[in-house]
Amino acid sequence: MDKKTLDIKAVRDGISQKLFSAEEIAKEFIREAEEKNPEINAFISINKEEALEGARKTDKDIESGLPAGPLCGVPMAIKDNILIEGETCTAASKLLKDYTASYSATVIEKLKEAGATIIGKTNLDEFAMGSSTENSAFGVTRNPIDTSRVPGGSSGGSAAAVSANMALGALGSDTGGSIRLPASFCGVVGMKPTYGRVSRFGVMAMASSLDQIGPFGKSVSDAEEIYSVIKGQDKRDSTSKNALESKISLDDPSAISIGIPEELFPTDGLDKETAEAMDEVVNSFRSLGMNIKSVSLPSVKYALSVYYIVTCAEVSTNMARFDGIRYSRTDETYNNLRDIYEKTRGVGFGDEVKRRILLGTFVLSAGYYDAYYGKAQKVRRLIKDDFEKAFESVDVLLCPTSPTVPFKFGEKTDDPMQMYLSDIFTVPVNLAGLPAITIPTKGREGKLPVGFQLIGKQWRDNDLFEIGKFYERGN
Ligand code: GLN
Repeated sequence: MDKKTLDIKAVRDGISQKLFSAEEIAKEFIREAEEKNPEINAFISINKEEALEGARKTDKDIESGLPAGPLCGVPMAIKDNILIEGETCTAASKLLKDYTASYSATVIEKLKEAGATIIGKTNLDEFAMGSSTENSAFGVTRNPIDTSRVPGGSSGGSAAAVSANMALGALGSDTGGSIRLPASFCGVVGMKPTYGRVSRFGVMAMASSLDQIGPFGKSVSDAEEIYSVIKGQDKRDSTSKNALESKISLDDPSAISIGIPEELFPTDGLDKETAEAMDEVVNSFRSLGMNIKSVSLPSVKYALSVYYIVTCAEVSTNMARFDGIRYSRTDETYNNLRDIYEKTRGVGFGDEVKRRILLGTFVLSAGYYDAYYGKAQKVRRLIKDDFEKAFESVDVLLCPTSPTVPFKFGEKTDDPMQMYLSDIFTVPVNLAGLPAITIPTKGREGKLPVGFQLIGKQWRDNDLFEIGKFYERGN
């Protein structure tokens, strides 16, 4: 049996019924990861010994009669901006290439408690800034579906690892689409929870008012299994909260309304393949009996501008901690404190991180604060209000995840504006703090993948899984 074809439930059941062991599963995925990584470069590090040790512990627990945890023996890949105690955590930055984490993120503790096997840390755009995983100090990650193309970003390594069967599930972080865009480009499911649904303790902060950790899986159910383990209030993240567990009922699909926001579903502005795939998705939902309604989010046209102001502002302050005194230093020859800062940050940070620190410092500076940062915060509120209004008449919103299919390496690297435009459909969700999931559209075997996005009401993350599973099943 090829164990890489199993889903999370089958792995858990198989191990608890002793059809196979967690160690066997771990070995099979690690073998695949080691074989494919030289080409795909999904992993910055594969921690074989720790992974096998963890898997053997899981087997021992099962042997001694302990119940199987929800992620029993599931091989997981973790974006390398999430801390695991005692392991290197680079954020794909030269500056942190030798940094070892001194504690574990809450999500890691939860995964381990649930029995998961963590097999390695995945590649990303440096400090999660980017849309293609081309901004990594450790080389690009290749899209397993077409290796001449990018996997999307910034969590490109996590998406590629799941897509290429190098892991069964993965975690990423999503500040403006970094889970959803790569999931869509690599043909897997990726979910960004409601802001506050998952603890951010132990993820390296990019833009703290937007960052959220979320799961990747090969199916909606797998993503849901991982989400169910990592969610929940954490006293170490004061923005985290427990929320309602109810879910939408699909007994009568005609009682469900799906909104198509005209601003996020433009008739022009999508490439041909995306437009065709999206039409099919709308038709599928219609033929499943759901109501399709057009809605409007008028302020969303400003979302990209607002996002890049707010994000850069928060990035410029969050990156201040990398001063060469704490964490690590890139140069040991220096004359004074200023020299340490300049050498560490000058050499350690890549171009995109520097660009954002400069832009962020500018929009927060006296004289410009009101014109840029202050105004962006006000428009952010209008965007949130637009979503609330739309959700008065529909249950979820449907739109593309990306305006295009995965692009080729180098296509957008010389023009940051072109790169930023890839995020046009994903950033509004983060600004409004809402949950969203991307699901591969069906019937694209042999073609480049196209993901569609379902956006939910605040705290109604479960609805996305329910409607997503309904689409996958097709009844
Ligand atoms: N592509 C977006 C950016 O570069 C999203 C990043 C993210 O979600 N971490 O800001």
